[in-house]
Amino acid sequence: MRAKKKNTPETSLSFRLRGVGKQIAKHLARLDIHSVRDLLFHLPARYQDRTQVQAIRTLLPGNEVVIEGTIQSISMPTHGRTKLLCELKDETGTLYLRFFHVLPYLVDSLKPGNRMRCYSEVRLGAKGLEMVHPEFQLITPQRPIPIDAHLTPVYPATEGLSQYVLRKIINNALAIIRQHPELREILPLPLLQSLSLPTLQEALQFVHKPPRDIAMTELLENKTVAQKRLIFEELLAHRISLLHIKHQFQSQTSIPFQMKDHLSQQFLSNLPFQLTNAQSRVVAEIKTDLSRPHPMLRLVQGDVGSGKTVVAVLAMLQAIENGYQAAMMAPTELLAEQHTRVTKRWLEPLGIKVAFLSSSIKGRERTTALKAIGNGEAQIVLGTHALFQEEVAFSKLAFIIVDEQHRFGVQQRALFRQKGMQADYYPHQLIMTATPIPRTLAMSFYADLDVSMIDELPPGRTPIITSIIANSRREEVIERVRSACREGRQVYWVCPLIEESEALNCQAATNTAEQLQAALPEIKVGLIHGRLRANEKDKIMQAFQQGELHLLVATTVIEVGVDVPNASVMVIENAERLGLSQLHQLRGRVGRGKVASYCLLLYQHPLSELAKARLAVIRETTDGFQIAQRDLELRGPGEVLGTRQTGELSFRVADLIRDSDLLPHVQHAAERILHDHVDIIEPLTERWLGKGREYGKV
Ligand code: ADP
Ligand code: MG
Repeated sequence: MRAKKKNTPETSLSFRLRGVGKQIAKHLARLDIHSVRDLLFHLPARYQDRTQVQAIRTLLPGNEVVIEGTIQSISMPTHGRTKLLCELKDETGTLYLRFFHVLPYLVDSLKPGNRMRCYSEVRLGAKGLEMVHPEFQLITPQRPIPIDAHLTPVYPATEGLSQYVLRKIINNALAIIRQHPELREILPLPLLQSLSLPTLQEALQFVHKPPRDIAMTELLENKTVAQKRLIFEELLAHRISLLHIKHQFQSQTSIPFQMKDHLSQQFLSNLPFQLTNAQSRVVAEIKTDLSRPHPMLRLVQGDVGSGKTVVAVLAMLQAIENGYQAAMMAPTELLAEQHTRVTKRWLEPLGIKVAFLSSSIKGRERTTALKAIGNGEAQIVLGTHALFQEEVAFSKLAFIIVDEQHRFGVQQRALFRQKGMQADYYPHQLIMTATPIPRTLAMSFYADLDVSMIDELPPGRTPIITSIIANSRREEVIERVRSACREGRQVYWVCPLIEESEALNCQAATNTAEQLQAALPEIKVGLIHGRLRANEKDKIMQAFQQGELHLLVATTVIEVGVDVPNASVMVIENAERLGLSQLHQLRGRVGRGKVASYCLLLYQHPLSELAKARLAVIRETTDGFQIAQRDLELRGPGEVLGTRQTGELSFRVADLIRDSDLLPHVQHAAERILHDHVDIIEPLTERWLGKGREYGKV
């Protein structure tokens, strides 16, 4: 996308506007307003209705109103905070104006017999209804003041910049809107007509100066066509930019991996289970993509436990059969190690060499791993963030997988991708997530990806029963742990992050482990947290996996990926502090075997209404998509997508939940524009996204 041009009317702050000097420009910059366009897109946060003079008798405390009356009397109390009290009367009643600071102009204006128009919020004071420091104007027969024809906008403001000044300069900008060529209509007129949307100019005029007869609630809920018009344009710009990136992406070259299938046949026949239909379908989708000479960019969504790992391994086999390397990155050491264990168990019998790399692999071991990666001996490379560090050089990496992608930032994925970029090809990419992305978000943020869904769990799983239990009933919970272990089951006990400091969290988990061991002397208790060294973690995980440990106390390090089918009870402390998706992930560690599993959510009194509602969602459903949708409604998209950079989610006027009804129209319009109106792609995306969008996706 093109860089911002200097001094074009739309993008420069060459405000040839009355009222904008250096000082005001500085204040505006703090609001991120650098141009006339920014100014016009600085939309009101709310409105005031000053279009009607209200009768005093009809007023209620809390109303923000215009009144007119005649001053009856003035008093200037000598004690108390009030410095000046003014009694104002209209034909219907009396109201007091209260001032805590008295400036000379007040004393000059406020004289018995003067007629005034006041605007403020009405309160109930000691003497009856009153206004505190109202805005006011004197009315004289010679100088009648017209009543406002429009609702009054209230803008997001900043210190040193009053509403009055903002209104004035935005009003000036509106007056010269026609002189700004780039602020002219970008969207094709037939499109606007087909959706009954107004032009940009009409829309901006309307939102800054709504007519007096419009319902305030409609405005506040962004329901007017003028607002919808702006929202539509913004959503459209986002979607078009994603689709545009996708098109560019698809014009790049990648290695087409032929489907040779001899390794995968062998692999499948060794596997102790059959793929589910959903897994087979997704594998086929991936294989087709991989056989094309353009980079795959596919997202695999599958709820916790749906079996994504085996899908990833099958995909990697296709790269290996074609003589290339494949690498898979996971967000935690624990998970990367587990991947390595599983993959080695599955692939070493086929003579495939798997390497593992993380920051805790040091010394000789590291040198060996780096060498095998560099000379191509390691066909599959698994690891953590360590995989994209500078010292890592692959021999011929042509396929990368990011597991639990929502735990990585955009930048990290871009760096990983670079490891597979050669002079003549780009790597294929598969990204996997167990945090389901609600449809609304998927449409807006993953328009550039192809999406596969593993929408079926492997057979033989029994549903998990979830209970919400006050921490005061901890004893009972410990008894349940005891009886589960007695039956040969295993238990997780999670102490989530409650402190800023990692050290303190590990301490909390350590204390809990000690207490539980004391209460359950016959049971073998293990402890795992982020501060242990990789090989220590590995040892503990293996001991738990092999049933040598019965109870595993952990911080949220076990949140993603960990797979021990014999574990059937999950206790989560301070559950009220965790997000829904996180709770769902943690709960997904159990319910992987044939026996009934339990998830016990412990909470601290008192529980807020919101927390209650959230825990109830978790108790009532185990469907990750439903949970994500509820999480989206309760906490907003930024939280649901986790570390996905919030910049990608910041809208100026749109709100994905509120405006989801527009999305199908947006989708349709985007396709038409990409087809018939390529000339508007650039101005449209530049207007709403500026530059920087090109870094957005990898
Ligand atoms: P996730 O999608 O959460 O990453 P995993 O890949 O860890 O899930 O798989 C969860 C468990 O289910 C593992 O023990 C795996 O071996 C097992 N599994 C995967 N696919 C199947 C299947 N088709 N039938 C039975 N078990 C399966
Ligand atoms: Mg997984």
